Amino acid sequence: MARRVCAGLQGVRVKTFRANLITVAPVKRAFPAPGLFEIAVVGRSNSGKSTLINTLVGQRGLARVSGRPGKTRAIVFFDIEQRFVLADLPGYGYTRGPMRERAAWRDLVDAYLGGDRPLAGVIALFDIRREPDDLDRALIGMLTRYGLAWRAVWTKADKLKKAEVPKAGRRLDRAIRTVEPGVAFSSKTRLGRDRLLEWIEGRVAPRQT
Ligand code: GDP
Repeated sequence: MARRVCAGLQGVRVKTFRANLITVAPVKRAFPAPGLFEIAVVGRSNSGKSTLINTLVGQRGLARVSGRPGKTRAIVFFDIEQRFVLADLPGYGYTRGPMRERAAWRDLVDAYLGGDRPLAGVIALFDIRREPDDLDRALIGMLTRYGLAWRAVWTKADKLKKAEVPKAGRRLDRAIRTVEPGVAFSSKTRLGRDRLLEWIEGRVAPRQT
């Protein structure tokens, strides 16, 4: 029987989580049967998505499978502590990606985001040093259109001086019109990890109906 409500994330701030690969799905029909709440992670290629997933979960090399540019056009589903499912969406914005590949990306991500998944939230990554562009705005448009709860994350915050981080965050908040302020994140210093885990915890906690 599908378990749509998970048991909460008590102890979420432990250093590592038990994570297991469920499946790698290059097409919609390969998506796993809906079960636990899902949290999706999406971002431009090279935005630091694989590194963030590894940092969040506390396992080096976990998301490597999705980190081969242009190769893995698939959604990778991980079971985390049997409490929720992490869906690692393929990166977008390869400069040399052929049109065909971009269309395939859109079809797959659209099928996932607009499908009937138990999707509790989406983490959308942006390099803190980059200006959002049309592709980024198209992604946000998609999330908004589907009425999804999403949280922006400003990655590689350690690349800026400490004092510049809040300012860059506010600028990006305005540029992509976040509802909740984005979370400045660094896989190097672990800045933002706890805040992000807290957000996930709030999204996947059992719902009162
Ligand atoms: P992906 O293509 O979005 O999965 O990006 P990766 O996780 O492979 O990261 C792309 C590059 O950015 C790699 O060289 C990482 O080492 C680097 N990177 C990722 N996160 C951080 C971070 O928080 N700080 C710094 N300094 N570099 C990072």
